[in-house]
Amino acid sequence: MAWLGLDDTDSLDGGCTTEMFLRLLQRLGAKYRDQRLVRLWPFAANRTRGNAAVAAELLMAFEDARELLDEQWEWLCQRSEEGSEPAMVLTENQLDESLYWNAVRKNVDSSELMITSKHHIWSNGHSGIIGATAAIAWRGDHDHTWENTVYRLEKNIGKRRVIDEELVSKMDELFPLTFLNRDPRKNKGLIAPRSPCPVLLGIRGENIDQVEAAYEWLRSNEAIEKASANMIWRTNQACDDHLESAITATVQSYPDIRNRGHSSLVTSEGSIVAFAEGGKVNKLLQKLIPGDVISWMGLEYEGTYHLERLCLIEPSLRSKQRPICNCGKRMKSSGKNQPPRCPSCGTLSELNWVGEEIEPISWVEPPPDRRRHLAAPLQRKIPDLG
Ligand SMILES: [Zn+2]
Repeated sequence: MAWLGLDDTDSLDGGCTTEMFLRLLQRLGAKYRDQRLVRLWPFAANRTRGNAAVAAELLMAFEDARELLDEQWEWLCQRSEEGSEPAMVLTENQLDESLYWNAVRKNVDSSELMITSKHHIWSNGHSGIIGATAAIAWRGDHDHTWENTVYRLEKNIGKRRVIDEELVSKMDELFPLTFLNRDPRKNKGLIAPRSPCPVLLGIRGENIDQVEAAYEWLRSNEAIEKASANMIWRTNQACDDHLESAITATVQSYPDIRNRGHSSLVTSEGSIVAFAEGGKVNKLLQKLIPGDVISWMGLEYEGTYHLERLCLIEPSLRSKQRPICNCGKRMKSSGKNQPPRCPSCGTLSELNWVGEEIEPISWVEPPPDRRRHLAAPLQRKIPDLG
């Protein structure tokens, strides 16, 4: 048996590595199984949209696969987008899972890669090799989801996609184990990409039967564009593999809000930032004040955590002041560990502070169209408090 991984055949202007892989498998005429689509570390240099790589187990001997792939390499390079650095990696055995975890959680340099199985690499540059090996190494035993990716007819690529929104809405109801089909906030479908790539739509879900049945139902209807092919992938999407556990910290500064709405502040566990696109996460961050105890999930990048989920566990008092004395004067501090004292009549206060109490705020996340492919929606996974 052999494993084949592929990455970096597309660019921001077009193409799609998953479509290329399907065409490649068709050209090989090989039987295969466990085809997978994995998303990797979002901050990687040279990443393309969504930073996805693909792989499958080929049901043929390593040497046979190698000969067949030799014949396909030129075709693959010609069909890859300009500026991409395509890589095909063929291994005799599935690679060590650590290759995947490194590639989803941090920056990996291709010079650090240790491929222990018998292998062959075809590549134009280095960046594709990391994704191709990570896709082979992924197991997904702890968690995985499914995506049924549907490809357009050649003549339609670049044109507006014909997908009836009402149907997508109906499909969402009929197949409850599919997810991220629609953005209820904007009443708009999320299954179709916005770029000029060969993908017509992708249906994501918890279970292979549902993503298959959902598309079969959809395509039985006239209001959906005819497709050239489809492929069901096992994926690491919506699994949170890129994130370690939640971090709990005390807010130490007021938020710094920039003109476009990006906001950041300092906590006892480091700086955090939420971009305007973060929706509720950004709004909650802007409400925080020093003393609030919060918990978040996010990726650390260049010393700052980029928030993907946020909750306010223990709010501090808002508009905090010293209490008013019975005589009408406001109490004042009378030294460390001493109760406040009235400067007029000398009465000691029982309360240290008065102010507006607010309720804790449970986990919030960015709107569906602004989440990473890797991010687990709250409807799927509630984070454990750090
Ligand atoms: Zn008084």
